[in-house]
Amino acid sequence: MDDLILFWHRRDLRHTDNVGLAAARQRSQKVVGVFCLDPSILQRDDVAPVRVTYMMGCLKALQEQYAKAGSQLLILKANPSTGLVKLAIALKTKAVFWNKDVEPYSRERDRTVASGLRERGIEVVTFWDQILHEPKALTTGAGNPYTVYGPFWRNWSGRQKSDPMAPLQNAIGLSELEQDTAKQAGAIALPSAKDLGFVWTNALVLEPGEIAAKERLENFCDRAISDYSEQRDLPANHGTSQLSAALKFGAIGVRTVWAATLEVEQHVRSDEARNGIRVWQQELAWREFYQHALYAFPELAEGPYRAPFKDFPWENNEDHFQAWCEGRTGYPIVDAAMRQMNEAGWMHNRCRMIVASFLTKDLIINWQLGEKYFMQRLIDGDLSANNGGWQWSASSGMDPKPLRIFNPASQAKKFDPEAEYIRHWLPELRSVDTVDLVSGNLNSVDRDRANYPAPIVDHNQQQRRFKELYRRQKAGE
Ligand SMILES: Cc1cc2nc3c(=O)[nH]c(=O)nc-3n(C[C@H](O)[C@H](O)[C@H](O)COP(=O)(O)OP(=O)(O)OC[C@H]3O[C@@H](n4cnc5c(N)ncnc54)[C@H](O)[C@@H]3O)c2cc1C
Repeated sequence: MDDLILFWHRRDLRHTDNVGLAAARQRSQKVVGVFCLDPSILQRDDVAPVRVTYMMGCLKALQEQYAKAGSQLLILKANPSTGLVKLAIALKTKAVFWNKDVEPYSRERDRTVASGLRERGIEVVTFWDQILHEPKALTTGAGNPYTVYGPFWRNWSGRQKSDPMAPLQNAIGLSELEQDTAKQAGAIALPSAKDLGFVWTNALVLEPGEIAAKERLENFCDRAISDYSEQRDLPANHGTSQLSAALKFGAIGVRTVWAATLEVEQHVRSDEARNGIRVWQQELAWREFYQHALYAFPELAEGPYRAPFKDFPWENNEDHFQAWCEGRTGYPIVDAAMRQMNEAGWMHNRCRMIVASFLTKDLIINWQLGEKYFMQRLIDGDLSANNGGWQWSASSGMDPKPLRIFNPASQAKKFDPEAEYIRHWLPELRSVDTVDLVSGNLNSVDRDRANYPAPIVDHNQQQRRFKELYRRQKAGE
């Protein structure tokens, strides 16, 4: 009889192309999955209902995949250091396998769980799965972690990548008796997001689960990847993959994603198309760059990387912050983007950069408030990518260019020239002239008719202010 191995799923909610799960199945036929609904995560004040809804959908889909493969995915609502250890002991588990994570909380939690299991004689085996290259394998010539993306990309892109892993198949699950034991040790039926207290009433923009993620990848590779470099910055078009939530929760394996890009590369003929693929691959590398950075510098999660920002005199005007959150700043491109996030739980990358620049450079509000608000709203909210994006936008991160200030009107002119995106998310401004929507110079009649606010700050004045504050801070005045 095969020994029981528990595979602990965390941000790898799939049965295909899962490094740790494939290794567990290779070791034993009796592989059973487990997922912990961890109160330490779910009770944080930055959890987005839309994200939990997506995650619960992925878990439901994964339970179906386990059933098809002949086994089960167990659900615990418990702290893993107690709940998972208790379950493993009750089931006389031989070993617990899992895939590693880069987040500080997860690393600390994993150390505690691993020592709890080992103390009871249960083997622990861990793998790197969510990134193509593990942090310690990819360093500068001097052996240090990368702090600049360009050289990281050159090293990362030049390396051989693993092929996708085989799916879980022909597994053996728990007997009925063992299932009763699991229940006594805390296993529960899969709750809904609502049961957990997270209510998302709008439509879910992304279908959860690995089948949906695979289809999204295939559609993107068939239709959009070749045009990615021209289309990716136009928020009114659907030129990006929208795979971020699937990648965050591991509804798709990153090796599968990479292999799909190599497959299209073989079939395209134009340089333009090849360039589109390359630029998209660079985005995958940005994702890994930020994960490596968080792994090497866990303190990034707590605050700015660059010295002048450590005690920056942010103004943190509460009314301005509220107006930004609600999409009522009087800057149409900023407000459209914030409404997209509030209503859809997702925001286009170009718009994430615009609103982040606006919050920090125009409103002079601490980027960490924006970072948290994003986490409270995004379906793909992810510590490393979100922190990386915010520190980049605030100029407080690793990126060597210190001051990046986006002019909302120039951004709208370049990336939403017909104001299609603005009109979609600000329907009250639908009849306003395109040129006014793009420049943000609405006349008072249009504004009053739409009950739309006047700009809450003056961009030119604020950017001068920000630059001066930054100069003084740097000079230590
Ligand atoms: C202020 C700010 C906050 C952000 N917060 C998050 C976040 O919480 N979660 C998140 O996944 N991304 C975040 N991003 C990065 C980026 O905006 C999203 O990954 C992207 O918009 C998702 O859309 P997509 O899947 O269509 O991307 P595509 O353009 O299709 O890119 C493919 C994949 O590459 C990765 N990726 C793309 N751009 C970036 C980037 N700049 N940094 C890291 N990974 C990237 C994502 O996994 C994405 O799914 C943030 C960016 C900024 C500027």
